[in-house]
Amino acid sequence: MIKVEFAERLRHLPPYLFAEIDRLKREEIKKGADLIDLSIGDPDLPTPEHIVESLRKAAGRPENHRYPSYEGMPSFRQAVAGWYKRRFDVALDAQTEVLSLIGSKEGIGHIPLAFAGPGDVVLYTSPGYPVYPVGALFAGAEGYPLPLLEANGFLPDMGSVPADILKRAKLLFINYPNNPTGAAADGEFFEKIVEFAGRHNIIVCHDAAYSEIYYDDKKPASFLQTPGAKEVGIEFHSLSKTYNMTGWRLGFAVGHKEVIAGLGRIKTNLDSGVFQAVQEAGITALDTKDEELSGIRRTYQQRRDALYSGLTGQGIHVIKPEAAFYLWAGCPKGFDSRSFAKHLLEKAGVVATPGVGFGQPGEGYIRFALTVPVDRIGEAVQRIGKSL
Ligand SMILES: *Cc1c(COP(=O)(O)O)cnc(C)c1O
Repeated sequence: MIKVEFAERLRHLPPYLFAEIDRLKREEIKKGADLIDLSIGDPDLPTPEHIVESLRKAAGRPENHRYPSYEGMPSFRQAVAGWYKRRFDVALDAQTEVLSLIGSKEGIGHIPLAFAGPGDVVLYTSPGYPVYPVGALFAGAEGYPLPLLEANGFLPDMGSVPADILKRAKLLFINYPNNPTGAAADGEFFEKIVEFAGRHNIIVCHDAAYSEIYYDDKKPASFLQTPGAKEVGIEFHSLSKTYNMTGWRLGFAVGHKEVIAGLGRIKTNLDSGVFQAVQEAGITALDTKDEELSGIRRTYQQRRDALYSGLTGQGIHVIKPEAAFYLWAGCPKGFDSRSFAKHLLEKAGVVATPGVGFGQPGEGYIRFALTVPVDRIGEAVQRIGKSL
């Protein structure tokens, strides 16, 4: 038997803060509890049928069975450029400014390898998607969290970053519409980011995974709509949330040519691109009529409204999300995020995610995902009310 020793980088991974909730959830399930799981950041709705049909056809074509091109099929990258033009009025060169990804998580996790190393800093917003600091860690760089506070509308205070950190900062991750807070950013904020990045020579990576999940017909902006944005950074996008395609693993990065090329160089050496049949289905997805997506949005809106008014009625402080499919709520007096999650699980049979798991500034909050039908959300509200 050999002695297996993990590399330094694995030993430095942050503790997995959802472990206790996972364990309690398994215990409750074993007891036969009827749990309402509002902890899952994965749409429960199926991929629209016309997209599935497109994959079926494309999967049968032998030319799709070979290695794909690294940077993505020209037709897929063209479809991405076309979608950006229609949706955001942003012009992209499909050849040099678009790169396909095996889901956006893949690109987000890999990009620090191209631009940051020991001694460098990666700025990222917190609470947030755990991949930002982990990608930095795997590249040997240092992560520096920018707290998202309710008092600032869950936007980072760029003026608070110390000068010695700024000097070493190579990348900045931002994410709007935001997971977990549901906050959206406006053009004015993006302008500040462009100015900040230009002044300090920092590459901006904007994670826009939720740009198509929005409420009250208020369409979120793309970072690339901001003048000068393409000179300072890129945007990560994904088909996962927009088209209920999380299992398909298809995303893309767009923007600054050299940044796209740097990420591409890392990927060429690590992976061999996305199955072409999936890319062909992705083209079909990007051409989906807006009416089809508005049906999906209506479903989330019903759920959001039911959970927002239900929890607010129980005296819980809830931030009304402008976009994305989460509700970020304050823990009632006497609870921290973990004890409240435990209470909900054991006393109400409702699974939610403790905010601290998304980073220390998430302490005091809990995240509910809108990925269950509206009648179950109603039931969850009633149970939570009774438990308090
Ligand atoms: C779901 C999600 C993604 C998208 O992940 P994929 O790898 O494209 O499925 C990216 N960023 C955030 C914040 C997310 O919640």
